[in-house]
Amino acid sequence: MTRTSDVVICGAGIAGIATAHALAIRGIRNVTLIDSRSPLTLTSDKSTEAYRNWWPGPDDAMVRFMNRSIDLLEEWADASHDRFLLNRRGYVYATANPDKAAQFASDAVRAEQQGAGEIRTYHSQADAAAYRPSAHTGYRDHPSGADLFLDHDAIREQFAFLADDVIAVLHARRCGWMSGQQLGMWLLEEAKALGVTLLPGHVQSVHVRGGRVESVSVACSDGSDVTIATPGFVNCAGPFAKEVAALTGVSLPLFSEMHLKVAFEDTLGVVDRNTGLVILDDAQTLPWSDDERAEFAADHTTRWLTEPLPAGIHLRPEGYRQNQTVLMLWDYHSSHRYDVAELPLADDPFYPEVVMRGMARLAPGLAQYVDRLPPVSVDGGYYTKTAENRPLIGPTGVDGAYVNAALSGYGLMAAPAAGELIALHVSGGALPSYHPSFRLDRYNDPAYRALLASWGSTGQL
Ligand SMILES: Cc1cc2nc3c(=O)[nH]c(=O)nc-3n(C[C@H](O)[C@H](O)[C@H](O)COP(=O)(O)OP(=O)(O)OC[C@H]3O[C@@H](n4cnc5c(N)ncnc54)[C@H](O)[C@@H]3O)c2cc1C
Repeated sequence: MTRTSDVVICGAGIAGIATAHALAIRGIRNVTLIDSRSPLTLTSDKSTEAYRNWWPGPDDAMVRFMNRSIDLLEEWADASHDRFLLNRRGYVYATANPDKAAQFASDAVRAEQQGAGEIRTYHSQADAAAYRPSAHTGYRDHPSGADLFLDHDAIREQFAFLADDVIAVLHARRCGWMSGQQLGMWLLEEAKALGVTLLPGHVQSVHVRGGRVESVSVACSDGSDVTIATPGFVNCAGPFAKEVAALTGVSLPLFSEMHLKVAFEDTLGVVDRNTGLVILDDAQTLPWSDDERAEFAADHTTRWLTEPLPAGIHLRPEGYRQNQTVLMLWDYHSSHRYDVAELPLADDPFYPEVVMRGMARLAPGLAQYVDRLPPVSVDGGYYTKTAENRPLIGPTGVDGAYVNAALSGYGLMAAPAAGELIALHVSGGALPSYHPSFRLDRYNDPAYRALLASWGSTGQL
């Protein structure tokens, strides 16, 4: 069977759905969105669903990009009567390390210069009287920028559940979370109402002739095969973007990392239900008894439990009002890079206990759960990334073939602006100033390569 489409999109995760929506609202409605899975069920429903405009980087591209994405999220929350429960709780970065505290202050200056908003610094409890804590729900009429606490007593007063030795807290404010599933379903419903078709199936091949996309072949989930004649193809295949790009003869510089998260019921009420997403920005070594330490250190499969683990362990409350669920994440698997994403994900039986122990360093009340771990659920997926952790959004060098991928750990928050950017490329609209930073051909630009080299040994943001 042959049909025609103005644009075929491979992948109905949040990137593919946001792209379909962005095309449809610009009048490009004969769009086919293809996935053999139910929408949003590979990576997009495993997210912590948080967003931030806090990206103090070597330049301001990510801040401008995320500010645009958050503008769209707020616009859509208004339009949908807040169907996806957007909040504005903020991100709360904490440290017990004086060097990190100094870094919070310098990051804050840079972030302000790059457009993340005004910084308010508190050196005493009296200064901190001006601080406006987060509201439980809602996203309008909240402060933007960030509040930087450099006073112990002010930190104790506002963030009582954090460890007593935390010496600096940075509360970034144009940040929060939402229901990513509801966001995706709302966008999909809107896109379908405008004419977008969801086709269950697997993209098998993309036919390119004379350097142009001509058609896409799909093995449909009902057993039939379909060829769709089309001048446009958008690769939104998430962890499989590299394989899908190869169907058009394009090589993408991508790798993937496994990231897990754990959910449990905080029946002891340790975590403040009004808090933002809290991140401990310090590396740590887990405290074990002498016997435990000796036993783990003696076995090469468990020795890592006695070694320093990375900064960045984070948590947030899930749900509102009487809900007690807490989500916790610690990205200590990310040193292993996958060239090809493997499913199912590798198992880590230690994860819930390790995360609870590590989190007790940030919120000591959680130590009560360590000896008798409550029931937990663990899930996760891949962060698919470029070396400098910026996305790939734009043309690929084959006429009509685009990519919207490498959305790493920020795909939910980035999808609105990423989908819009693809639609502007496809429709020939005016491109925003940040678009060159996300194109695949940025790597051909000597100036960009020099910038990357100046970003440090890993080049990663
Ligand atoms: C534990 C965890 C926490 C996270 N937390 C956050 C967060 O707080 N905030 C945030 O913004 N982001 C977060 N992320 C990142 C975010 O979830 C991802 O960046 C985002 O979901 C990527 O969306 P996607 O549409 O690119 O990929 P996916 O959701 O993986 O969708 C890709 C789709 O492509 C389909 N596909 C692949 N190949 C083919 C083919 N040949 N034919 C047809 N279909 C194909 C797949 O079946 C899949 O459905 C987190 C991720 C993880 C794993």
